[in-house]
Amino acid sequence: MKSIGDNCGVFGIVKDTDCAEDIYRGLDFLQHRGQQFCGIATYDGKRIYLITHYGQVGNTFIPRELETFKGNIGIGHVSLKERQPMMWQGAVGEIAVAFSGNIINNDALLTEMKDKGEAFYHGLDIEIVSKLIMKEKDIVSGISALAEKIRGSYSLVVLAQDGIYVARDVYGFRPLILGEGPGIYLVSSESRAAQNMGIDRLRDVRPGEIVLITQKGFETKKQLRSPRRAHCAFEWAYAASMDSKIDGLYVQEARNNLGMSLARRDIEEGDIQADLVAPVPLSGIGHALGYHMTSGLPYQEVFLYNRYADRSYTQLTQEDRDRMAKKKLSVLKYAIKDKRIVLCDDSIVRGTQIREKVRELKNAGAKEVHVRSACPPLMYPCDFGISTRTYEELLARKYIPTGNITTSDELKALESWVSEKIGADSVRYNSLEAFVEALKIPRESLCLKCFDGKSPMELPE
Ligand code: SF4
Repeated sequence: MKSIGDNCGVFGIVKDTDCAEDIYRGLDFLQHRGQQFCGIATYDGKRIYLITHYGQVGNTFIPRELETFKGNIGIGHVSLKERQPMMWQGAVGEIAVAFSGNIINNDALLTEMKDKGEAFYHGLDIEIVSKLIMKEKDIVSGISALAEKIRGSYSLVVLAQDGIYVARDVYGFRPLILGEGPGIYLVSSESRAAQNMGIDRLRDVRPGEIVLITQKGFETKKQLRSPRRAHCAFEWAYAASMDSKIDGLYVQEARNNLGMSLARRDIEEGDIQADLVAPVPLSGIGHALGYHMTSGLPYQEVFLYNRYADRSYTQLTQEDRDRMAKKKLSVLKYAIKDKRIVLCDDSIVRGTQIREKVRELKNAGAKEVHVRSACPPLMYPCDFGISTRTYEELLARKYIPTGNITTSDELKALESWVSEKIGADSVRYNSLEAFVEALKIPRESLCLKCFDGKSPMELPE
């Protein structure tokens, strides 16, 4: 379990009654995508109402405040990075904009726009996105111009006078789904928000698609040319919630498959004797279940997750987050005494948290701890807004400075080195080939840049 850098989530809804409470509920189901800031904007046919907060939705929006919103149409945002939605007045009228993603060429765009006389509050990505949209005569032209100008990832919602405009970047890095129920049309970063609101008629927004949502339903206003798909593989392995379905694949199914793949390798190589398989909560659960299904080893929780640990405030620094991660999990001593444990997690980034977990289990009486990582070794930072990790933070990179693993012997040598570093009895990763095979999505439709260093934007169409 680890914290993600600047991830975020968007939500929007059109219905036939006031919608602020629905947005609140929708955001609550997306809270895992960002806990630092949250915001809601609604439109009542006359004006936009907007409130943002520092903190989580459930801790900051009080019922009296929700009652001040008016309107049957609105959007919301949760973030680890900045306050959104932002509200603007322009030739397109009054709008509120929120997005999930990251603009790689933000410095160049800021300089270019400032040189042309544009002013910014802070120069945030959301300001750049909003201003590019507002430059054009209508919102569809604005979103089309934005796609030409920016390099990076975005899932976007724009609250306007004629409805909610929704768009996904031409690669489809970040998830974005549409849902339809009786008298309700919604958009969400993840399907779980829709599902938990009783809506099961869902479809993904296509990469490059611009959709307008109104009381009449969904209308594709434009389909921009998509050079290739590049869905973030890390969403299935870690970032998304296990009850979501993204681009046709259930997150749970993907995690189970990844765990099964790890177990198959252990069975093939035949050198692990263990008593139980356990997850690092919460991100390792699906992987550990998959491992259990294939290996037949008993599935056993070895950490108790304290769900109340982070409800009252958010953590600003990495130290705070590490401290909170520790407070969130306590060892179930009875389950582990003298046991040989296979411990599954989604990935190993810096190795500090998994080292701590191994140490805690051994101190509490575990005989052996064998760590299994669903993701291949992380070798490259992410440019697309999923994580802010840097080269210096990546443990595997310290052993393989080139970032290239070309043979299974190199992978095994890395695994022995990582195992020693984190104090485990063994470490195994899924190889990149096994990882892609487990996801069951064509390799050319995935972003795998943090594993192989290849930016989808630079790959052939
Ligand atoms: S670089 Fe990694 S985390 Fe970032 S979008 Fe690509 S797969 Fe996802």
